[in-house]
Amino acid sequence: MNVRVGILGATGAVGQRLVQLLSDHDTFDIAAVAASEASAGRRYERAVNWQVSTTIPAAVATREVIPARPEAFPEDIALVFSALPSGVAETVEPAFLKAGYSISSNASNARLAEDIPLVIPEVNRDHIGLLDRQRDERGWDGVMVKNPNCSTITAVPPLAALTDYGLQRLHVATLQAVSGAGYGGVTSTEILDNVLPYIDGEGEKIETESRKLLGSFNGAAVTDHEVTVSASTNRVATQDGHLENIWVETAKPLTPAAAETAFEEIESAALPSAPNEVIRVFEDPMRPQPRLDRNVADGHGIAVGPVSETPWGIQFDSLAHNTIRGAAGASLLNGELLLEDGYL
Ligand code: NAP
Repeated sequence: MNVRVGILGATGAVGQRLVQLLSDHDTFDIAAVAASEASAGRRYERAVNWQVSTTIPAAVATREVIPARPEAFPEDIALVFSALPSGVAETVEPAFLKAGYSISSNASNARLAEDIPLVIPEVNRDHIGLLDRQRDERGWDGVMVKNPNCSTITAVPPLAALTDYGLQRLHVATLQAVSGAGYGGVTSTEILDNVLPYIDGEGEKIETESRKLLGSFNGAAVTDHEVTVSASTNRVATQDGHLENIWVETAKPLTPAAAETAFEEIESAALPSAPNEVIRVFEDPMRPQPRLDRNVADGHGIAVGPVSETPWGIQFDSLAHNTIRGAAGASLLNGELLLEDGYL
């Protein structure tokens, strides 16, 4: 039987991508789209400033946008995808959880809380087990899983492939798409002919979230991976491409060839929207060049390469689709994981 789902923040950059991905989904049916009070009561096609390249799915276009309040939601919704600004999500998400709705959230609030699983299914699927503790401690009727920040999602899958070599120091420099700032997040006068050399709070998210994602779960708690992470984050004028230059220092010797093999061996999460090919390695010289519009597995996968030696380890670049792999697609994977593991 299909599962009825709702979307909080359905008119935003991530919410629109969720609408697109969920409209084609075999198991999840969109039963509610919610946004701010300014949009509530309007038809979705009137409330949204649609930026996704495909047209608005017909079944959603004429749907009425409802307020982001549990009492406005149909009771038979089993799963809510949250794409709310974090300051709003801080109060709205707990209200939905108390009302019995389960959430797959993209918002940054509570990502580091001890009983909230922060999950990329191909990396740390077992952390979903934190939900049993969450249920015991919070007294919520629903459960909540979070996906990490978009720039963290672009970096961590290849890094997870290298943990057997003993990660010691990581440096990440990002070139991030404008969609990552949300709809209306960066003005054209700021970004055209320009690169914005600092994204407030983004480096800290990469540093903290990557340690939690790479950490180990003992059935009750996650212990952060001990690794030094340094990140420099920058905004560039691309719509959806996040490119990251990553330097890795390991305890054991690591050659570029061994790293490429490890990247290619990352296993698919085997969930309905999970790519079979998680990482595709592009060798040096990069032919064919990875392109975001023809990116790995329609944006669900990650392009990595070329891998080279540096005086203190290896260096490679990682390219991911911001709103698919980095946001809406990540929430969708976690929603599928909740269903498959029996939490809905
Ligand atoms: P966005 O484009 O600004 O969209 C925000 C959405 O939230 C809109 O639907 C907006 O509705 C709604 N909203 C705003 N205030 C509200 C309120 N008080 N009550 C109810 N709904 C409200 O933001 P976004 O980029 O999609 O980001 C959504 C979340 O995902 C954020 O927490 C962000 O940090 C996180 N995230 C984003 C990305 C990305 O690629 N953009 C990546 C990873 C994580 P209206 O249209 O009615 O204003």
